[in-house]
Amino acid sequence: MSVQKFQRWRWIRPEIERPQISSSPFHSYIYNQSSSMSVLLNLQVEALAPSMASSSKEGPARRVAVVGGGVSGLAAAHKLESQGLKVTLFETEGRTGGKIRSATEDGLIWDEGANTMTETEAEVGRLIDDLGLREKQQFPISQNKRYIAKNGRPELIPSNPIALIKSNFLSPQSKFRVILEPFLWRHSGMKNNTSKVSDESSHESVGGFFERHFGKEVVDYLIDPFVSGTSAGDPDSLSMRHAFPEMWDLENKFGSIIVGAIRSRFSHKSKKGGNEKPLEKKKNQRGSFSFQGGMQTLTDTLCMALGKDNLKLNSKVLSLSFNDNGGSVSNNWLISYAAQGPTCKGSLQDQSYDAVIMTAPISNVQEMKFLKRRKPFVLDFLPKVTYLPLSLIITSFKKEQIKRPLQGFGVLVPSKEQANGLKTIGTLFSSMMFPDRAPNDQYLYTTFVGGSRNRDLAGASTDELKEIVVSNMRKLLGAEGQPVFLKHVYWSKAFPLYGHDYDLVLKSIEKMEKNLPGFFYAGNHRGGLSVGKAIVSGFKAADLVLSYLNSTDEEGIK
Ligand SMILES: Cc1cc2nc3c(=O)[nH]c(=O)nc-3n(C[C@H](O)[C@H](O)[C@H](O)COP(=O)(O)OP(=O)(O)OC[C@H]3O[C@@H](n4cnc5c(N)ncnc54)[C@H](O)[C@@H]3O)c2cc1C
Repeated sequence: MSVQKFQRWRWIRPEIERPQISSSPFHSYIYNQSSSMSVLLNLQVEALAPSMASSSKEGPARRVAVVGGGVSGLAAAHKLESQGLKVTLFETEGRTGGKIRSATEDGLIWDEGANTMTETEAEVGRLIDDLGLREKQQFPISQNKRYIAKNGRPELIPSNPIALIKSNFLSPQSKFRVILEPFLWRHSGMKNNTSKVSDESSHESVGGFFERHFGKEVVDYLIDPFVSGTSAGDPDSLSMRHAFPEMWDLENKFGSIIVGAIRSRFSHKSKKGGNEKPLEKKKNQRGSFSFQGGMQTLTDTLCMALGKDNLKLNSKVLSLSFNDNGGSVSNNWLISYAAQGPTCKGSLQDQSYDAVIMTAPISNVQEMKFLKRRKPFVLDFLPKVTYLPLSLIITSFKKEQIKRPLQGFGVLVPSKEQANGLKTIGTLFSSMMFPDRAPNDQYLYTTFVGGSRNRDLAGASTDELKEIVVSNMRKLLGAEGQPVFLKHVYWSKAFPLYGHDYDLVLKSIEKMEKNLPGFFYAGNHRGGLSVGKAIVSGFKAADLVLSYLNSTDEEGIK
C-alpha cells in the first residue's frame, strides 16, 4: 500500500494512533517513509481495520482548517497532519507563535510572551520528542531559587512545606495554621460532614479558598504573587474552580489540601508503578524550561514541520459558513479570509473544508461572521471575556551596576508591597537562568507591569514604565544608574481572566460546538492558560476532529 493511501485513511481511526504517537515508530514513519517499521505498521493497521480501509481509501484526503497560529493551533495542525489529513492554518499576523514570541538584538535574546513552560502533561513531553527538540531544551540554572518581595526586600521562597515551617517567611501564627490545616479540614468521607468544603455553586474566589485553608498572610504573600505572576490576575477576581480545578477537586475529595496533595501524589506514583521509565520521570521533574533561542524555537519548529504550503500567514479569517452537503462531511465549511500580504493587499478569498478548529481568542471570534445553512448564526450568547493587559520591560545592565545580584529564577512582588514603592508584578532574572541570553558583561532582566492590580499602568508610556522598573531594580537588586538596553512590549489582552462567571464562556463555547457540526474550539480560553495546557487543548480538538470525521463518515451528519 502506498504511503499516500495509508495516510489517507489513517484519520478514520484515531484510536489506532494512540500507542504510536510518541517518540516513536509512527513518527519516524511519517517523516521517514523508507523505514522498515512503516511496513510493519501498515500491516498492523491493515489487520486492525480492514473494513475502514476499504470504505475510505478511494476518497480524497480530509481537509481541516485551523484558525490561529498560536501554540494551540500549531499543535492541533501538527497532530492532524501527522494523521494524514490535509490541514490549512490561517494566521492574521505575518508570523506564527501568537503569545510566544522571542527576539534578539545587541547580543541579547529575550522572550516577549511566555518565558518558560513545563511538561507536566505527558503529551507535551511526547511532542518535544517528536519534534526532536530535546537537545535544544534549556533548563534554568538554580531554578528552585525563587524570591518574593517582603518589606521591600527579596526573600527566598522556601522550596517545600518543611522548609516553609522552618523559615521566617511566614509569621508563627500563619505557620501554625499551615500545620493545623490537615486536622481542621479533615474529611471523614461522609458527605454531610463536609460543611466546610466549599459549595460548587458558590463561585468562590482563589483568595477566599486559600484564606479558608491557610489564612490571610499566605494569600497575601504566596498566593497573590503566584497568581499575578502566572495569569496577571488577582486572588479576588479569579474563580477557584476555573483557575485551579485540580485543587478544587482535592478539597472536594479530601477536605484538606495538604492531605489531598500528599495522597494524590502517592496514588499517582503507585498507579504508574514500575512502568515509568526513569529518564521520563527525571525530565518531568526538572520543572520549567525554555529552548535555545527562546520559546519561539518550539513554535518555529512546529511551523516548519507543518510546511509553508499548509500555512496562510497574513490571512485574517472573517467568516465561516456551514452547509450540509448531502449528508456527507466533505467541504461543508466555507472559510472567507482577507489576505494581507504584499502581493495580495486586502483581497478576499474563500476555501472549503470538512472541519474547523478555532483557536483565535474569543474576542476575535466575536468579530467573525458565522452562517449555518445560509442563515446567520448569531453569537450573541457568547459573553464578553475580560482580558488583562500587561507590559513587559526588558532591560540589561552592566554587571557592575547591579550591587546585589541574585542567582535564580526571579522575584515576584505581592500587591501589598506596592505600599513599599514596588509597583511591578515581578522580574525574571533572564540571563541568570540562561547565561547565553546576554553578553558576558551584562545581566538581562524581564519585568512585568500591569495585570488586574494595575490595569492603567500596563498601558503607561515607556518613560513612565522605565522609571518604575528602574526604581524597583534599585530597591530589590541594588541597580545603579540607567539600563544599557531597554525594550517595551505591550499586550492589551495578555490573558483572559478566568473570573467568577467564566462558566458562561465555557458553556457558550460548548453551545457553538454543539450547534455547528465539525466546529471545535481550542486554546488558552479553555482548560488552562499555560503553554502546556494550550498544547493539550489543541491535541484534544484534533482528536475530536478525527472522531467527528470518523463517525460522520459512517453515519452522515445528524
Ligand atoms: C506576556 C505573557 C507571558 C506569558 N508567560 C507564560 C509562561 O511563562 N509560561 C506559560 O506556560 N505560559 C505563559 N503565557 C501564556 C501562554 O503564552 C499562552 O496562554 C499561550 O501561548 C496561548 O496560546 P494560544 O494558541 O491559545 O493563543 P494565542 O497565542 O493567543 O494564539 C492565537 C492566534 O490566533 C490568531 N488570530 C486571531 N484572530 C484571528 C483571525 N481572525 N484569523 C486568523 N488568525 C487569528 C492570533 O493572531 C494568534 O496568533 C504568557 C502569556 C503572555 C501574554
